[in-house]
Amino acid sequence: MELSYRPFELELKHPFTIAKFSRTSTPLILLEIRHEGHTGYGEASMVPYMGESHQTAAEFLNKVDVSQFKYPFDFEAIINYLDSIASGNPAVKAAIDIALHDLDGKIQGKPCWQLLGSDPALMPVTSYTVGIDTPEVLIQKVKEAGDCRVIKVKLGRDSDKELINTIRSVTSLPLYVDANQGWTDRQQSLDMCHWLQQQGVMLIEQPFTKTDPGSNAWLSDRSPIPIIGDEAVQRLGDVDKANGIYNGINIKLMKSAGMYEAHKMIERAKELGLKVLIGCMSETSCATLAAAALAPQCDWADIDGPFLVSNNPFQIPEFRDGKWVLSNEAGLGLR
Ligand code: MG
Repeated sequence: MELSYRPFELELKHPFTIAKFSRTSTPLILLEIRHEGHTGYGEASMVPYMGESHQTAAEFLNKVDVSQFKYPFDFEAIINYLDSIASGNPAVKAAIDIALHDLDGKIQGKPCWQLLGSDPALMPVTSYTVGIDTPEVLIQKVKEAGDCRVIKVKLGRDSDKELINTIRSVTSLPLYVDANQGWTDRQQSLDMCHWLQQQGVMLIEQPFTKTDPGSNAWLSDRSPIPIIGDEAVQRLGDVDKANGIYNGINIKLMKSAGMYEAHKMIERAKELGLKVLIGCMSETSCATLAAAALAPQCDWADIDGPFLVSNNPFQIPEFRDGKWVLSNEAGLGLR
């Protein structure tokens, strides 16, 4: 087994602004693992607030010894090995996990979604995310939503209602809302939830800071719309902690350290009666297909990476009626 990788800078079509920051590109690692004549592709998307970078990824990968992967597709053993090298680093761990899933599918001649037990007929629609912006740019972004059937709106500033009104002036599509920890007042937030429900909002992500479980739980108990933990939920152990605080969780491969643990998180969330949104960072078609392979097991999907970037090195997978189409190709189906 042979591992190689290269740093890559993924450019965004528009500067992306959410409650706490703004950026125009995202550092990636594009990774390949070769074994028995097949190549598996993986990707790490390292959004700055998660603390990973080209440098931290290179430092981590320098310590990875692929000869330690005794049986290459014992994902539990591999994630334990990667965690033993260093804690954190979930995106670069995800890159290895995704490449191994792709490789596993190619060697077995089966698509990843099938190996993970997903039913393509249950694929949810994927939302199209618009960041915080001026009304003119917001309207332009909504027009770029193309075939998407749901718009995800970033809130968390004083102008939240104006922003929703602007979007409602150009589309009647259902909305998801992400406050990215930007809300601070409980009663004001509850009033906002009722108002947002009237505006056709289906869910709200991370209203209060993740360090305030009390306010998040207070709102989850009262909100007419499901409250979803995102920043508060990274890996498997966080699912149980989210129970009783949120109505659901947002799983992202770049937080969960890959597909294996994301699958475990979906199963655990279902046991606890938590709803599941599967999301993404700024990603190419590689991580998009990895998330899409699990999306049929989730309630909602927000896997819009390829729509928001301008230099995706791979083909954009087939997208129809607002949903990713899972192909019968072995592995991820990446081209
Ligand atoms: Mg979010």
